[in-house]
Amino acid sequence: SGLDEADEAVRGTCEDASVCKRFAVSVGYWKDPYIQYFVRQAKERKAPEINRGYYARVHGVSYLIQAFLKKTDCNCQIVNLGAGMDTLFWRLKDENLLPRKYFEVDFPMIVARKIHNIKSKPPLSKPIMESHSGDSLLIDSHSLDSSRYSLVGADLRFSSDLEEKLKKHNLDTHLPTLLIAECVLVYMTPQQSANLLKWAASTFPVAMFINYEQVNMTDRFGQIMIENLQRRQCNLAGVEVCRSLDSQKERLLLNGWETAHAIDMMKVYSFLPQADVKRIEGLEFLDEKELFEQLMQHYCICWASKDNSNLGLANITF
Ligand code: SAM
Repeated sequence: SGLDEADEAVRGTCEDASVCKRFAVSVGYWKDPYIQYFVRQAKERKAPEINRGYYARVHGVSYLIQAFLKKTDCNCQIVNLGAGMDTLFWRLKDENLLPRKYFEVDFPMIVARKIHNIKSKPPLSKPIMESHSGDSLLIDSHSLDSSRYSLVGADLRFSSDLEEKLKKHNLDTHLPTLLIAECVLVYMTPQQSANLLKWAASTFPVAMFINYEQVNMTDRFGQIMIENLQRRQCNLAGVEVCRSLDSQKERLLLNGWETAHAIDMMKVYSFLPQADVKRIEGLEFLDEKELFEQLMQHYCICWASKDNSNLGLANITF
């Protein structure tokens, strides 16, 4: 049916994101020794604007994640929603920054693919084994549950099913919890993403939500971005929330979150350490500064918190 095709196109976006990340890593933008085990090398070079954009995205999101881990002393959980082939679990383990438990959720089909990669690549499976204790390691073709890392196949549009599956994998709603949605909410209707945000806010008394996605989509440049995605049959059901930074913040505040921030990626770029900027700007020559700036003004990082135990989550900022 048309609906299944739309979901299939959305699942395809996970491949795109990781192929772009792998390419930027291969040019030297940042280090990720694990991404090569999840996706092929890109057939063609990606434009320098794209690589720089991915650098700011990965750096910006990890900056907030590290701030949360610091505030909670890693005595917390991370739930990565629509994680695709993300490698964060392995990178955090290398840095000795693993939370008590790290969960990833995606469509069952994507989860099956990820499990297949993990099973067949020792550099991926070893860290999971090493961080595991006890005898409850469960791994079959569509679900993986170890003591520190868990992979759940679920549709994020159905939060009761999501909660049930996470709880089967020992989700502890009383631990401070960081939820991450990187390029995920835009594929759901505003109603569906509101439900997900509301579910998260009402389930975890102490929590932070990080959302990375499109913004300022009502101008000409935004229209072109939408047309490009639609040409690939991708249903941007949630794009109306991406009209402005204010609408992004409002969605968080209206759905149970106490504090909310939203900044565009040009702003994030301006907060990068000068030494990093100098290094990455030296990697590839970028001719059209204007195109880069346009692109960066059409993506944003939003973050929200609720903090019943006064850990200081509300103070997290760039
Ligand atoms: N977060 C990863 C990253 O940034 O590298 C992947 C981003 S990819 C653009 C979007 C991901 O969200 C895909 O892996 C897709 O399968 C997942 N996704 C989208 N809608 C979903 C839903 N309703 N339920 C579960 N996963 C979903």
